[in-house]
Amino acid sequence: MNKKMNDLVNFLKNRGFIYPSSNIYGGLANSWDFGPLGTMLKINLKNYFNYFFIDMQENNYYFDSSIILNSKVWEASGHLKKFNDYIITCLNDNQIYRADELLEEYTNYIFENLTILEVEKIIQEKIKLKKYGDKTRWSKISSFGLMFKTNYSKTDTKVNEVYFRPETAQGIFINFKNISDSLNLKLPFGIGQIGKSFRNEVTPKNFIFRTKEFEQLELEYFTYKDRAKKDFDKYLKLIDLFLLNLGFKKEDLIKNDIPKNKLAHYAKKTIDYEYNFWFGKKELLGISNRSDFDLKNHSQVSKERLQYFDTTSNKWITPHVIEVSMGVERLILAIFNKLFVKEKERNILKLPFFLSPYKIAICPLTDKLNYQGEELLFNLKKLNIGPIILQKGGSIGKRYRKHDEIGTFFIITIDFETEKDQKITIRDRDTKKQERIAISEIKNYLQTKIKNIF
Ligand code: ATP
Repeated sequence: MNKKMNDLVNFLKNRGFIYPSSNIYGGLANSWDFGPLGTMLKINLKNYFNYFFIDMQENNYYFDSSIILNSKVWEASGHLKKFNDYIITCLNDNQIYRADELLEEYTNYIFENLTILEVEKIIQEKIKLKKYGDKTRWSKISSFGLMFKTNYSKTDTKVNEVYFRPETAQGIFINFKNISDSLNLKLPFGIGQIGKSFRNEVTPKNFIFRTKEFEQLELEYFTYKDRAKKDFDKYLKLIDLFLLNLGFKKEDLIKNDIPKNKLAHYAKKTIDYEYNFWFGKKELLGISNRSDFDLKNHSQVSKERLQYFDTTSNKWITPHVIEVSMGVERLILAIFNKLFVKEKERNILKLPFFLSPYKIAICPLTDKLNYQGEELLFNLKKLNIGPIILQKGGSIGKRYRKHDEIGTFFIITIDFETEKDQKITIRDRDTKKQERIAISEIKNYLQTKIKNIF
């Protein structure tokens, strides 16, 4: 891990955002637990996704499917056959590598343009690891399924093998009929789902960038085949706006139109949004045209008609799907990368108001004023703008620095005049500007200052 990342990991641990998982038992490689502040940030991000991609859209709805589904789902979706990585072992130390990553790092060959036998030959003949030089020896390439398996019965038999979902999308596709019939939906409509996904990644790395267990934010937008391109472009614009609202800038929105030979097995077109992380430019999220691939395959395997009766043409049609898919943790890492800013005298987490774990910290100047702080806390909570904290004790400068660092948007100071004039000082995190206003004016002040509550 490079120094910047290492510093961030320590900071996030010390401030209650993210801890290494299973730490008291020596840890579990590349897995992380979210602390109280990290969880607040996660919840805010998920709420914003729901607000932006579901509530604010015309015909979009929520969904929440099981994590473990009938194994036939993964047969029909193609995951059982195609959701795998090609791996090769260095025989010097039994370390396992992804063949495509080796090729990318050590050669100019393009993995997708070669057969697996060709890749194997290139690695065996041409790739010498720095640590072993000419002595590097390689195994043969094998295929490694990325889905986690478990057993769904009391007996440990192959028949009862099931999988933890590697994407949330399939739960939506298999419920297409339930959803469209029960709500009597007209095309186009979208179904969004947030939930855990699991992938037995060969090379989990870069903190929370790539882990084996992560949360996805997905939207499946069902549309007419001849509208799919238009709707793809519509969601492309929406993703831009979503990212700008989170605090990214135009220059951060790097779009990578995936070439045909690199597309996932289900995709007709994909654009990945990339972000310049400390460790390089990497995929942040993706938008795909999945065509009618999933509904068709599930119809074929299940023998259920997963179609839509189009009253204009009086025909049954299989809708096409535009998918927006992003990882909660990966997005949070990019947010830290972008918005955690080191200034000369302080660090600031420049989160937009709706992402900040605490919206306001109330700081009574001395302990003698704590009771007034408690009263104000009680009254401000009624405004329903999100978590507010009463931060007692310690120097005021220290309290400012602490809250700047965890992204608290405003700090309210109560001083000895407050009781007499019923005024407080409110400080803006980013500008450090302080204004003395009447307690009765706080609500108006917040309304004028906050652009996006959301
Ligand atoms: P990658 O190439 O980085 O493994 P992918 O192309 O396999 O990603 P998708 O299947 O398109 O990823 O998943 C959609 C989104 O889910 C990704 O853009 C990313 O934000 C998130 N994601 C996928 N795999 C992981 C993971 N192992 N850990 C964290 N987030 C992930």
